[in-house]
Amino acid sequence: MIVFKFGGASVKNAEALKNAINITKTFDGPLVIVVSAMGKTTNSLEELWAAYIIKDVKGIEHTLEKLYKFHTSLIAELGKQTRRCNDVFSESFNELKKQIEKEPSEHKAFEYDQIVSFGELWSTLIFAEALKISNINCKWNDARKTIRTSNHYQNARIDWPKTKTLVKDRILNKFKENNSLDCVVTQGFIGHTNTGMTTTLGREGSDFSAAILAWALDAKEVFIWKDVAGLLNADPKEFDNPLKIDKISFKEAIELSYFGASVIHPKTLKPLQNKNIPLRIKSFIDPESSGTIIQSDESCDANQPSYIYNKNQLLISISPKDFSFIMEDHISEIFHLFSKSGLKVHLMQNSALNFSVCANMKKAMLKNLIDELSETYNVKYNENVDLLTIRQYENHIFPENLKNKNILIKQRTRSTLRYVLN
Ligand code: ASP
Ligand code: MG
Repeated sequence: MIVFKFGGASVKNAEALKNAINITKTFDGPLVIVVSAMGKTTNSLEELWAAYIIKDVKGIEHTLEKLYKFHTSLIAELGKQTRRCNDVFSESFNELKKQIEKEPSEHKAFEYDQIVSFGELWSTLIFAEALKISNINCKWNDARKTIRTSNHYQNARIDWPKTKTLVKDRILNKFKENNSLDCVVTQGFIGHTNTGMTTTLGREGSDFSAAILAWALDAKEVFIWKDVAGLLNADPKEFDNPLKIDKISFKEAIELSYFGASVIHPKTLKPLQNKNIPLRIKSFIDPESSGTIIQSDESCDANQPSYIYNKNQLLISISPKDFSFIMEDHISEIFHLFSKSGLKVHLMQNSALNFSVCANMKKAMLKNLIDELSETYNVKYNENVDLLTIRQYENHIFPENLKNKNILIKQRTRSTLRYVLN
C-alpha cells in the first residue's frame, strides 16, 4: 500500500488536476490518495465562516458565489463526461448552503469545522470522479467516518486505536473485497468525533492526515506531491542557490523544523518514524525527478549543511543588580517570567553574572516583561537581531549576504553552529 498526498496547489485548476491524474496512472495500486482543498479554497471558506458568524448576508452570498464559480468552472474545463462530477459537487454544495441557513451557534470553532471541511469534500469528490472518467477504478472515502478525533474543534487530536480500526474497516477492506480496485481517494485535514461531528486538524493538516493513514495501513511509503523539487537546505527567499536534500533522516528533519526550518511538521513525521515508513517529497511538475526521501537511516545527514535563518528576533541580556550568581539564584524566577509573557527561547548563553537569550515573543507583552525583570536585574535588549542556525556545518560556507553583519553571539555544538547577528 502506498499513500499519496496532493496539496492545494497540485489540484488548483483543471490542468493541475489532469497532471495529478497522470501521476496516479503511473503507479500500480493499491493507492490511498489524500487530497487538500483546491487552490485557495480553505481561505475562501474561512471568509465564509467569518461572514456566517457575524451574519453578514452580503459577505455570505459573495463568498458562496466565488466558491461555486471556481469549482464549477474547474469541472467544466475537465472536458466531456463531467455531468456526474457536476452533480456530486452540486449536491455537496447545497448541503453547505442548507447548513448555513441555520442560525450560527455560540461555538465558533465548532462552526468553523462544519463549514471549512467542505473544501476537502469537494476536492475529493471532483478528483474521484475525474479519475473514474480516466478509467481508473477508484472509490471515494469519507474521512468523517474514518479519522476519529477528540472534540477540540479546529485542532482535533487523533484517537489512534479507534482510527486504526476504522481505517482497516473502511479502506483496507475495500481493497480486499475488490481485487481490481486501484485507489481510494479521501480528504486530508478532516475527521470526526465519537458523536459524528466533523472536526479539522489545524491548517496545513493534510500532510498529517496522510501520515495517519499510512500509519494505520502499515503503508510501504508516503508520497507528498509539491510544487518544489523537494526539501531545500536553505530558504530560497533568503539565500542564493539552495541545494536540494536528497536523503535525510526523520531525526534530522525534526531537528531542522525545531530550529525553524519550514520542512515537514514533526506531527507528520512522528507516526511515520514510529512505523519506519519512508516519506518522499516529490515535484508534481517534474514527477520523474528524485525529490527528497525522509527515512530512518542517519548515515547521510552529516553530508550537507542546512541553513535556517530567523529574522527579527529579540535578544535580552540580564544581570542581577546585587552581583549574585545568575544560574544558582535566579534562573527559575527568570523562566517563570518568560513563560508568563509567552516568550519562546531559541538560544541561551550565560556567564557568572549574565544571562542572554535570543527569543521570540508578542510585541505587546515586551514592555511588561522588561518592567518586571528590571525590578531585580539590569536588562538590555535589542528587538532586531537575526538568528542563523547551520546544521551539519562541517563543510559550510558562511552566507555571502550576511557577511557584513555583526556577530553578537556565536555558539557551537557537534552538529549545530549558531550566530546571533545584527
Ligand atoms: N486545506 C487545508 C489548508 O489549506 C489543509 C491542507 O491544505 O493541508 O490548510
Ligand atoms: Mg491547502
